[in-house]
Order: sequence, then structure tokens, then C-alpha cells
Amino acid sequence: MRASSLLIHTLREPPADAVLASHKMMLRAGLVSKLGSGLYNMLPMGLRVFRKIENIIREEMNAAGGQEFVMPILIPAELWETSGRWNAMGKEMFRIKDRHETWNVLGPTHEESFTDAMKGILKSYRDLPVNVYQIHTKFRDEIRPRFGVMRSREFVMKDAYSFHKDEECLGRTYQVMRKAYRNIFGRLGLETIPVEADTGTMGGSRSEEFMVPSEVGEETLLISAGKKYFSNQEKTPFVAGKVEKPPALVKSAKKHHTPNAKSIEDVARFLGVSSVHLAKALIYRVGESYVLVFIRGDRAVNDVKLKNALGGEEFRAATEDEVRSLGFVPGFIGPGHVPEGMRIIQDSSIESGRPYVVGANEVDHHRSGHVFEANPDARDVALAVEGDRSPMGDGVLHAIKGIEVGHIFQLGTKYTKAFGVSVLDESGRPLTPIMGCYGIGVQRTMAAIIEQNHDEKGIAWPVSACPFEVVLVSITKGEEEEQKVAALYQKLQKAGLDVLWDDRDLRPGVKFADAELIGYPVRVTVGKTFFESGKLEIQLRKTGEKVETTPAEMVKTIRNLTRSLKRKHPPKKR
Ligand code: ATP
Ligand code: MG
Repeated sequence: MRASSLLIHTLREPPADAVLASHKMMLRAGLVSKLGSGLYNMLPMGLRVFRKIENIIREEMNAAGGQEFVMPILIPAELWETSGRWNAMGKEMFRIKDRHETWNVLGPTHEESFTDAMKGILKSYRDLPVNVYQIHTKFRDEIRPRFGVMRSREFVMKDAYSFHKDEECLGRTYQVMRKAYRNIFGRLGLETIPVEADTGTMGGSRSEEFMVPSEVGEETLLISAGKKYFSNQEKTPFVAGKVEKPPALVKSAKKHHTPNAKSIEDVARFLGVSSVHLAKALIYRVGESYVLVFIRGDRAVNDVKLKNALGGEEFRAATEDEVRSLGFVPGFIGPGHVPEGMRIIQDSSIESGRPYVVGANEVDHHRSGHVFEANPDARDVALAVEGDRSPMGDGVLHAIKGIEVGHIFQLGTKYTKAFGVSVLDESGRPLTPIMGCYGIGVQRTMAAIIEQNHDEKGIAWPVSACPFEVVLVSITKGEEEEQKVAALYQKLQKAGLDVLWDDRDLRPGVKFADAELIGYPVRVTVGKTFFESGKLEIQLRKTGEKVETTPAEMVKTIRNLTRSLKRKHPPKKR
């Protein structure tokens, strides 16, 4: 394609609200433009990359046995009532009423639609397993749309769903999809780390998120020193390990005057003991009732674990007034005054039979020597952090930040049961299929590629996901020189290379800056030297490597260079 007939909309400066490199560069390179909060136009230059990513995903899904669908984005609310998610989804789901006063959903995900569609299709165990997918628009009314297309309100997801007769079969497809994900991200030149993820209350047994390690990632990953354990911090079990013996003050059953010491740190400092000897008490409001959580003083509560412990119910910290209404003293909550019937969750970091310092339920007072009874309902609701022990026993955990680009999930029968999907098994008895689901965000993947492949001048796309593989930048005077470049352009096209000829009537500096910003993997420069000596310059965007060549050797040189690029920059595997 000729640049003179393509909309190239590069900007010198990124808009002030862009923070991430990928967000800035997608706007500056004219790949996307903003329509509104969390809404982006995909411009022609960006769409070329988007389509390449989409096609790689499609090829790998098809190779994994997936069958492609396209489903309505608008979904009758009835389906969401059937699954129970009409109430469970909260404000993130867009809901619209049609002219007949009927509620509909703008699909944030499509478990309901696919389960409903498959209900009408699946008849017998012979129809299983089956793996279906679409690459289509999703809507989520994110509380904070940000980072450009990374967290937007409308985006495209590849979402796949598989149906099985038993767990073993689901396990096999899960592995096939896991491999397909590795292939997709590998082909896109993206380094990803699959980590254990929370399965929530969906009844799922296994789930992994594919994370792109990045300092700008919103997720925290905990990785063990021995590289045996990889997980999202939301999911990581807390391994308490050995705690130092309680000092005499902690052992003695006494009330202590602790003026103005409300926080754990204050109390520990005031009493001169480590916060591991304190038990923190936290009160949460869950629906119409309250829950009291006891956790070791040095630990924070992991909200995802707590939500799971509460059976998936939403919760929030109780207000001071609510705490008072329960008969507790805010800042000095402790065991002893617990109202009848109030649910207590004792975190497993609290050791039974061991003394702790606790709140005395009296202003400015704490008590030492409180021993918690063995709690058969002890739960792990503590947030594991860097430096904690690996659940696999291979050293301590190390934390890194990551961007979640994909998610694979063993779902169980939540949806098939709710929708009454039933097939006949080998002996003619009804069987409820077990499901898996698998997502990849297309635009987020595109942005993650930029996060991993850029420098101060712009993007450095991998060959597999780029707007054009080769940019031919020409600096010509007159028709005769123009013709010579046209011949080179045709030669590149004939060789099957995806080439953009920057034939725009602009200063060379502007064309070079654009080429570096937009980040085509290969640049062929044709200027004065070429017209004088017949020599061309080929440059790799990623490495800056430059090679001089002749028109006859041009295609071969490009191929060798891009091949070397793949070898030099293979995605890291684990
Ligand atoms: P997050 O925790 O980042 O909100 P999620 O757990 O809600 O993600 P899933 O429901 O697993 O995401 O969706 C599958 C994929 O869709 C994600 O891995 C991500 O690539 C993409 N995705 C999810 N939400 C968004 C969004 N708001 N904007 C762009 N892509 C998104
Ligand atoms: Mg989300």
C-alpha cells in the first residue's frame, strides 16, 4: 500500500491523560483514537495489527479443535436470570430496556449464550467433547476505565467454551487450550507466565491466567524461588511458617492501658512486641449481617479469599457507627463481647493454644494472654506477600507485576445445570456436561505487545503483529527517481512482503520519525545513495541493525534479517 492513500495520523505529543507507554504510543502512532471514556476507535493503521492478532488467535483456536460462532452482543436478561448472574453481576454489566420494556444485557462474557445455544445442539455423549468460540465485542462498565484499550468499556475478546462428559476429558481439553495459548502468545513474541488464579465461587476446580510481566501491570504475581509455584496474589495460600515464641508480656493474662494506640503498629510499638503476637479483629458488613475476622497482626486480609469464604457474597468494612451498634469499641475490637450468632472467621494464621494480644473492647485498652480455641472452621483469608514461603516448599515467594491477557478456567456444571443441558450417556442415562471457558482480550494483547516492545522513539512490532512488515521510505526528486522506487515497491510486493511505500511528500526526518513511532519491523531506505550507487539500506527497528544491499539481494536480505530477529528474540518459555 502507498502511504499517500492511507490515513496516517501521527501525533507529536500524547494527550495529557495517557500514562502507559502503550496508551501514549497507540494514540501517537494513530492506531486508535478516543471516542469517550473507555471507548476507542480502531483506526486503519491499528486495525491492521488487530486483524493479525485476531487471525493468529483464530488459527490456533481452529488447530485446537475450536469451532467459530458469532453471537448477538445483545442478550435477553432472561438468560442471565437463568444462570443467576442477573443479580450477581453488579454494576459492571450494561443493562438496557427495549421498547417492549424487556431487559437485555450487553454481553460482558458469553457463558449464558453459548450454554443456551449448545443446549439445543447437544444430544448424546457422542457430541462431546465440543469446543466452541467467537471473537467478538464485549461490554463492561468498568469502575475505572483506564490505560487506553487495556481496560476499556467496549473491547473484543476471544471467548471459548468447551463441553465434556467427564472431568478427565475436560482436563485434556484444558491442556490443549493451554498449549494453544502458549502458541498464540509465542507467535506474537509475547513473554507470558501462566499463573494459578482464583476460581471464585463458580465451582470451578482449576484456573490459570496468562500474565505478561510488566511494571505497569495491575496484577501482582507471586513466584517461588525454586520456580515451582506461580500464582496470582489473589489466590496464593499463606504459609505461616514458624513464628518466634511469645515473650513473657504476651503470655501473661493482663489488661494494658494503651493510650491512643489504635493501629496494630501503634500497639506493638507501645508494648514493645512484634505484631505477630497481636491478633487483629476486623468487622465486615455482609448483606444485612456482620462478620468478625481475626487475623494475625502482621497480615492483611485478602479480599478475594474473604469473598470466597463468604460464599461469594459482596462485603464492605463496617463503619465505626456499625461497630459501636454491635457493642464493640472501634480501634479496640477483641474477642469476648461477640454478639450471639455473629459469624466469626478465624484466619489460619492464628495458632490455637498460643497467647496473643487482643483488643479489650474498651477505649485505650488491650489484653494480653488471650488464647484462641482450635477453630474447625479456620480459613485462609490472609494476603500472601513477597518473602512469604512457597506453598510448594521451594523457598520464598518473589513478587512481580503483570498484565492479564488471557484466562483459562475449568468451570464445572454451573451453567449446564442452570440451563438444564443434558445429553444421553453410553447407557442411555441423562448426563450434565462439564464446561471449560477460555478468554483472550485482543486489544489488551495488542497493548501488552507494545509494553514489551518499545523504546523512547516508538513501537518495535514483531513481524507477526505489525501494521506492515516493511516500510519503504523514499526520498526522491522527479519522475525518473519515483519510477525506480516504484519498481522496488513492486518487487517487494511480488515477493509477498506486506509493504507500505511511504511516498508522501514530506521531509525525510518526518518520514523516519513516523517509521520509528509506528514501528514497522523493517525499513528500506531509498535516497541519494541509491540513485548514485544502486545501494539500499535496510534497517531493523527492533535492534537498529543496518545492512547495505542491492535491489537484487533486497528480498533475501529482508528475509534473513527478520528470521534472525525471531531467533534473537524468542519469547521466554517456562
Ligand atoms: P481484569 O481482572 O483485568 O478485569 P477479568 O478477570 O475481568 O480481567 P476475564 O473476564 O477473564 O477478565 O476476561 C478475559 C480477558 O478479557 C482478560 O484476560 C483480558 O485480556 C480481557 N479483558 C477483560 N476486561 C477487559 C477490559 N475492560 N478491557 C480490555 N480487555 C479486557
Ligand atoms: Mg474485570
